[in-house]
Amino acid sequence: IASHNQQFPKPFGVRTGRVPVGIGRRRLRIVVTGGSGFVGSHLVDKLIDRGDEVIVIDNFFTGRKDNLVHHFGNPRFELIRHDVVEPILLEVDQIYHLACPASPVHYKYNPVKTIISFTRSKFFGAKFLLTSTSEVYGDPLEHPQKETYWGNVNPIGERSCYDEGKRTAETLTMDYHRGAGVEVRIARIFNTYGPRMCLDDGRVVSNFVAQAIRKQPMTVYGDGKQTRSFQYVSDLVDGLVALMESEHVGPFNLGNPGEFTMLELAEVVKETIDSSATIEFRPNTADDPHMRKPDISKAKELLNWEPKVPLREGLPRMVSDFRNRILNEDEGKGH
Ligand code: NAD
Ligand code: UDP
Repeated sequence: IASHNQQFPKPFGVRTGRVPVGIGRRRLRIVVTGGSGFVGSHLVDKLIDRGDEVIVIDNFFTGRKDNLVHHFGNPRFELIRHDVVEPILLEVDQIYHLACPASPVHYKYNPVKTIISFTRSKFFGAKFLLTSTSEVYGDPLEHPQKETYWGNVNPIGERSCYDEGKRTAETLTMDYHRGAGVEVRIARIFNTYGPRMCLDDGRVVSNFVAQAIRKQPMTVYGDGKQTRSFQYVSDLVDGLVALMESEHVGPFNLGNPGEFTMLELAEVVKETIDSSATIEFRPNTADDPHMRKPDISKAKELLNWEPKVPLREGLPRMVSDFRNRILNEDEGKGH
């Protein structure tokens, strides 16, 4: 992906879409890889709404056209079915690189491909933002995790294709930055939830919400005392854009510091969806991190960013989307 030709800037203030670009800012052409997925599609909404041009590159491994259908027909939006491990030549200003199998079920499905999809992505000229992950901290021995912590990752385990893949992607991103002068940004994203998550991707929030709606027991892995910190998707998208627009390379933790055990999360889902919901214990997966909570002081200070939506407010916002999709699925089965 090459940089957009700066000699031919688009005139600002041209009204071809719903919202004009602000006075004094040139319209940008932005690539979002993985833009038909959960986080990517919300990011696309924000970029289109502020008046920029967006090109989504996605191979639909886990993404869905449904997530973007409301932009079809908009002249500022393009969708390209393409696998990011293969080269593509585009002239753009910014690249948000989100494409990758992101949930444990999906990244373990083809682990070799998972690691390749991080390490083969190349970029020239355009400003490049890598969506890394809190998984780079592994099973952390420091709590909460600061960006200066180097992590505790098993290099040969089942999760390694993801954790080490993202660590390698961070390394490559920094090497391009230092060696080739590419302008880069690195976000370390903590567990994020919201509408449009894959229904059956095995992540804990989507599992519990779908299970409670389907009147199935919520499956708690292990003793349920492990912790995670859950961030609502609009907070993440605000953080990604703030980082891209900032002068700082990062890495930056983007997450909500509100920390919950899985048993506490099940309780919140129960309060939100169905007070008669039950839980069922299952064996835990290998190398499951015992705790995770971001220290976000760096993002607060340098990006002027912090999450606004607590779990008890965010969870109800994804329930109607999940209910509708589960209902459609059930109706589909009847035909
Ligand atoms: P998602 O699975 O919903 O989206 C990933 C998208 O990438 C999908 O649309 C998928 O089809 C596409 N994709 C996968 N491999 C591809 C390939 N080789 N070529 C082209 N497209 C490909 O996942 P998400 O939750 O939206 O995650 C987006 C990014 O954020 C990922 O890089 C993920 O690692 C990172 N992240 C997410 C979370 C989270 O909690 N959601 C946490 C940490 C990091
Ligand atoms: N988990 C759970 N029940 C589920 C799915 C996951 O108890 O149905 C647990 C899982 O063992 C982990 C935590 O929830 O401790 C978060 O898992 P997820 O896959 O959502 O995110 P990650 O482990 O990548 O942070």
